[in-house]
Amino acid sequence: MENTDLRQGHQARKWKQDSQARKRKQGTQDGKGQLMNDDGDSDLEPQIVFNSKVRKEAYHDVVNFTYLNDCTRTEDDCLQFCQHYGLLPKTIHCHKCGVYLVKLQKNSRGKKEIFCFRCNNRSCRASMSVKRNTWFHQSRIDMKKNLILTYMFVMQADLNMAIRETSGPSFNFLTTSTETVTDLYTQCRKVCAESLYGGNDSWQIGGTNYTVELDITSFGKREFVVGRQVQTHHVVAGICRESDQCFFVPIENLSEDDVLGVIVKRVEQGTIIITEASPLYMKIPDLGYRHRVSTNSCFDKDQASNNSTNLVKATVSSMKKHMPTNVNKKNINGYLAELLWRRQNKDKKCLFVSFLKEVARLYPGL
Ligand SMILES: [Zn+2]
Repeated sequence: MENTDLRQGHQARKWKQDSQARKRKQGTQDGKGQLMNDDGDSDLEPQIVFNSKVRKEAYHDVVNFTYLNDCTRTEDDCLQFCQHYGLLPKTIHCHKCGVYLVKLQKNSRGKKEIFCFRCNNRSCRASMSVKRNTWFHQSRIDMKKNLILTYMFVMQADLNMAIRETSGPSFNFLTTSTETVTDLYTQCRKVCAESLYGGNDSWQIGGTNYTVELDITSFGKREFVVGRQVQTHHVVAGICRESDQCFFVPIENLSEDDVLGVIVKRVEQGTIIITEASPLYMKIPDLGYRHRVSTNSCFDKDQASNNSTNLVKATVSSMKKHMPTNVNKKNINGYLAELLWRRQNKDKKCLFVSFLKEVARLYPGL
């Protein structure tokens, strides 16, 4: 027992001396990452827990909040993390002379330090920010805050939570503004929309021998209207029983023209469409579809003769839980895209990594 104490005392002194020598040599920056070995092992070389090299090899296909924080401590860490997930380019071709560039350097612009590719060509010497045309291009907040807010969006954190987690000592004692969060969340919803439609707006669901359940729902309505009037948005929802594909399309007015317009655009001809009994759907058979009127009251286990719209109703009600009650008209498409994207990606191993991959695809950089 005594021996062990002595040995530990000796080792502690040795570690202290080593540590002081190292600090003199390197400055004090990595003092926080050092751990003292407490099991009496002779190897007392302090470990730097998150050495960049270690982390680079250890990037995971699942990124949780703690891991994200560890990966984004410094600007250099953020850069490596973003390059790993394709959010920032690792190499580029000089946009002036076409030379292939790999090396990054830090340039100071005002108070900020920016990572730039610097052209090696002596007659060119162009400098290009690594953030050009990437997810961070227009962003006024730093990479760390941006990544954490993006994580907050994917995890459906509300405004207060997002502000709370991106303010304070880890962020130079600055408080994130409401606008910053809402702007970034809006940007994220655009990613969801792009991911779903990918610029191709002519997609349809259903087909011959496929069944699509259709319903009209309204978002933003309160059951007991108290206080200020809330704007309601009518949305046509359709879901294909066989393929599980679905659409949510907002309409201007609850009119026959608007509803049929959505059906023609989003449902393939020849599809069996099941709706509730309503005059809005009277002309569906005239448009090349087979129409059945729902009999929601009777539960028929046989799918083929099941004329209910229970599936679409259940989908809508589960999605409504995540829809804020006071959505603006101009934002409704973004919210619907987000809900659909979440539905489509619900089985992914890590939703955040899936989202980052989507961002990388849409904003490849230079
Ligand atoms: Zn060049």
